[in-house]
Amino acid sequence: MSAVLELKNLSFVYGKGTPFEKKAVNNVSLSINKGEFVGIIGHTGSGKSTLVQMLNGLITPSEGQVILDGRDIWSDPKQIRQIRFRVGMVFQYPEYQLFEETVYKDISFGAQNRGYTGEELDTAIRKAAEFTGLRPELLDKSPFDLSGGEKRRAAIAGVIAMNPEVLILDEPTAGLDPMGREILLSQIMNYHQEKGTTVLLVSHSMEDIARVADRIIVMNQGRLEMFDETKAVFSHGSDLEQIGLKVPQITKIMQALKAKGIEVPDDILTVDEALEVLSSLLKKEGKLW
Ligand code: ADP
Repeated sequence: MSAVLELKNLSFVYGKGTPFEKKAVNNVSLSINKGEFVGIIGHTGSGKSTLVQMLNGLITPSEGQVILDGRDIWSDPKQIRQIRFRVGMVFQYPEYQLFEETVYKDISFGAQNRGYTGEELDTAIRKAAEFTGLRPELLDKSPFDLSGGEKRRAAIAGVIAMNPEVLILDEPTAGLDPMGREILLSQIMNYHQEKGTTVLLVSHSMEDIARVADRIIVMNQGRLEMFDETKAVFSHGSDLEQIGLKVPQITKIMQALKAKGIEVPDDILTVDEALEVLSSLLKKEGKLW
């Protein structure tokens, strides 16, 4: 497996040399493989947003390097704009950044800046709209006529249309209703599977992260606390609790059963998995079917 992003001793200090100096990211080193789906968790203020903003060159590291496809993104500062197309960033509540007359124009903005024209541009826009579940007839509307969920989709489509090598989403489902969250998350998973794009997802929802991530970055007070496979991270329930995080509810239930001496694994992530384990356990004990 080859690395698409490598972070080497990455640090970021806000307000350097002022009384408000704050080291938001502290000496983080890690490597993300091409095509991986990586979750990023950590309590508020743990440095998640600062970390991801360094990955597409929005802010410059105070120390360390961000290596994209083998090259330091700051090796030629004049080229940093190109990095922002290659590492696409969907911010929290991205719908506030919609401003064009039509949804179509809004989605095209980044892709056009990347240099797409004509049919290539049109295909990129329509494909991105499809990935995010925006109906084609919405493309000619004003973004202001869309519902909240549709606006969110349009904003995400605008980043997808740039065909980034790495897609970073900061709390993409925040503020959506449970159904809207579920659908958007499935669409992101589908996009990842079909395109093979590397995806980094920042989320407070352990349930969401458990469903989608291959590996999880755990941030704590600016430091990298853990970076491991999803099951391995959530099997450290008490360590996570100590830094203000939870495991998915279903994982917690299974861990509680295990603590009571019932022979179940402590790394169950979904209700379906739990159901399977519990029904085979009951079958074994002759209590079911
Ligand atoms: P998270 O995304 O995990 O909530 P952030 O990266 O936003 O964490 O913040 C990390 C730390 O940096 C926090 O202590 C926060 O208060 C501080 N911080 C974030 N943005 C700024 C800023 N623009 N100026 C000063 N401090 C900031």
